[in-house]
Amino acid sequence: MALVSMKAMLDEALAGQYAVGQFNLNNLEFTQAILLAANEERSPVILGVSEAYIPYMGGLPFIAGMVESLIKHYGITVPVALHLDHGSTYEVCIRALHAGFTSVMIDASHHELERNIEITQRVTEAAHVLGATVEAELGRITGREDDLVVDEAEAMYAVPEDCVRLVNETDIDCLAPALGSVHGPYRGQPKLGFDRMGEIRRLTGLPLVLHGGSGLPDEEVRKAISLGTAKINVNTDNQIACTSAIRTYLLDNPEAYDPRHYLVPARNAIQRSVSAKMRLFGSTGKAGGVV
Ligand SMILES: [Zn+2]
Repeated sequence: MALVSMKAMLDEALAGQYAVGQFNLNNLEFTQAILLAANEERSPVILGVSEAYIPYMGGLPFIAGMVESLIKHYGITVPVALHLDHGSTYEVCIRALHAGFTSVMIDASHHELERNIEITQRVTEAAHVLGATVEAELGRITGREDDLVVDEAEAMYAVPEDCVRLVNETDIDCLAPALGSVHGPYRGQPKLGFDRMGEIRRLTGLPLVLHGGSGLPDEEVRKAISLGTAKINVNTDNQIACTSAIRTYLLDNPEAYDPRHYLVPARNAIQRSVSAKMRLFGSTGKAGGVV
């Protein structure tokens, strides 16, 4: 099955009250594990690529080629979107689309609202010509290293009126409003702005995206989905699963030297981690076929 945009999968998720996972590609084994999990779970899937990983994995054309080759090699028959995560400029979004990505996130949230709208508008115009989807961000989704106290975190929440303006003036396909989730492991109990999430969903009518989906309690995930979150980004939990499997193998087998001996258990661990998220998000079985 050829790569598709996020449009149909997010519309269906919103209507069906479940969420599609975005799982980030870190290397070949992550790509294999995520595609295999999606196919076995009969779940639509979004493959995320963050900017830092583009040079690490060999460039945008290589990543798109690797994904397309694996889809053919494994005979993947569920919908797969290839999505640029946190694209920081118009240029990188265009380069991703040119390489064959079917979706991009333009993250101009560090700019003032006017400038965010202007950049997002340009990306959306170009992406829609190609049938690709666009995600935009409002407010600041931080990393744990920022170590904010709760009051400061709430001050960075997306403002509903700003969300309405961004959506109306740009024609984006989905919106990531900052509401207290963070990238990386959580320190203590996260405090998500659920009231505001529901309000933004009502006012914009768009599928919402939850970044920092690793380590959130299951109840919070289900609540976010019930309030219109149709896409949830996960990377850290899969990275932890991968690295734990490698660490365990190498501690048990200090003489090991063949990479396959620790990368196969790592790949299996990533696949189990992704499958568990798909079940939690409710996307298992939504691509049709038997699970
Ligand atoms: Zn993010």
